[in-house]
Parts: sequence; C-alpha cells; structure tokens
Amino acid sequence: MNRSEKFYRGRLAPSPTGLLHLGHARTFWVAQERARANGGTLVLRNEDIDSTRFKLEFVPQMIEDLCWFGFEWQEGPDCGGAFGPYSQSERRPFYATALEKLRAGGFVYPCTCSRKDIRGAASAPNAGDDEGPIYPGTCRNKNLSTLNPQLSTRFSWRFRVPDGETISFTDGNFGEQKFVAGKDFGDFVVWRGDDVPAYQLACVVDDAAMQITEVVRGADLLLSTARQILLYRALGLTPPAFYHCALMLDEKGKRLAKRHDALSLRTLREQGKTPEELRRF
Ligand SMILES: [Zn+2]
Repeated sequence: MNRSEKFYRGRLAPSPTGLLHLGHARTFWVAQERARANGGTLVLRNEDIDSTRFKLEFVPQMIEDLCWFGFEWQEGPDCGGAFGPYSQSERRPFYATALEKLRAGGFVYPCTCSRKDIRGAASAPNAGDDEGPIYPGTCRNKNLSTLNPQLSTRFSWRFRVPDGETISFTDGNFGEQKFVAGKDFGDFVVWRGDDVPAYQLACVVDDAAMQITEVVRGADLLLSTARQILLYRALGLTPPAFYHCALMLDEKGKRLAKRHDALSLRTLREQGKTPEELRRF
C-alpha cells in the first residue's frame, strides 16, 4: 500500500438547521465506517454558513446527538485540529478568496434575477435536484459596469457552466455517473445576493482545504457533485473521491426531511430506542 492509499480523510458535514434525523445519521454512519475501514481520519464540519436558516442552539444539540449515536471524529469545532476552523461561519475569508479567483478567471458573472424571474422564464425546466429551475441565462452577458451601484442592486455571482459538456465521475457506490452541463443543470449560484457564500462553493473550498480524500453523502447531491467538479477545475483543485448513499425513504416512499420530526434522533432516543437498533440497516 502506498502512502496516498493509506491517507484517508473523510468528513461529516451536518448543518444545524434542525434536529438531526435518522436519514442523516445513517449516511454519516457509512462515512464513519469507510473512514475506519481505511484507517483514516474523520472530520466534523459544522455547516452553519446560512445564518438565515440555522439556529445557534442546534449546534450543541447536534454534537450531543452525534455522540449519542456513536460517532467519533478526530477533528472538529469541539476538539480542534490542524485544518480549522471547523465551523463554516468562521471560514468566510477562504470563500471570499475563492470567489475572487473565479471572478479573475471569468468563471462567474453577476446575476440580478430574483427566484421569481427565473421561475417565470419560459424555458426553465427544473434541474433534477433541489436547486430549482435551470437558470435560463438571462444575465450571462451582463457585466458589472452595467449594474448601477447607486441603485444598490443586490446581485448574486453565478458560475457559467460549459454548455453541452458531459461531466462524468465514478461514484464509489453507484458507479459511472454522467451529467450534461446546461441540460441536467444550469449556471449555479456560488455567492448569494444576501452576501452569503452558496453551499456549492463553501463545500468545495472546505473539502479541498481540509484535504478530504473521499466525500460520503446522500444521493440527492449527485448532481451537485457534477457542479462541484466544475468548481474544482476552475479553482485548480483536485476533486476528492465520491461515495453517495441511497436516501432513506419514509413509509410513503418520500424522502426523509427535517420536518419528519418523528424520525429525529432526539425523538427516537426519547422513545427509548438505542443507537444499536437505529444503526441496523
Ligand atoms: Zn440573472
């Protein structure tokens, strides 16, 4: 085994926007098992960048729930480590530097569209995931000088995808994946109009800076992996390996969400369930 094979760094990246539920915990469990099987390091990253959605009181609860379930990490906001800080709210300078690189390289453009504008555009089919409609390209050819700063127009920064290019990667669980830029997903926001770095950018910047070698996460993020591969390329970074887990469904076949409070770890624990029972797949 050579050094690069031995060196495994995985991560758990929960966002404190609600109580941790069983679906997350099971995906995280796979991440932990894979880190252990590879004799690797597991990092806990607190994805609290979106202060409009997260609540401060969820952070200690989240850590307590993770500990109760049996998670053990070697680096994190509670225990430190060489790649800190481990809370995204403290990592803004990293994201700003990356945005500057993307701007300098011409990879992003300012977009003044509201969600309503985009939804209203005639040719805006939905992307195959949670990102909403595929961006119709309205602002692609605008440049900053056409935005009047006196109007204090709020704008986001959007990544220009290479239309028609197939982005492929080998997923550790699902095998070969192929997504076509401009068809399966469109230009995506890397910095929001309310001056918050978007998930896609923060995730790539952190996984690279924390030297994560394999990203384990839910299958709802397969398309985001294609987007993120484009970001890695634009930033001159090497992408990690990816391993996506099938999502846990509820009894109606719908994906578990944070609103399924009945399946929050906290509720299950109060009902007397043990971590050992809950870890069984
Ligand atoms: Zn726009």
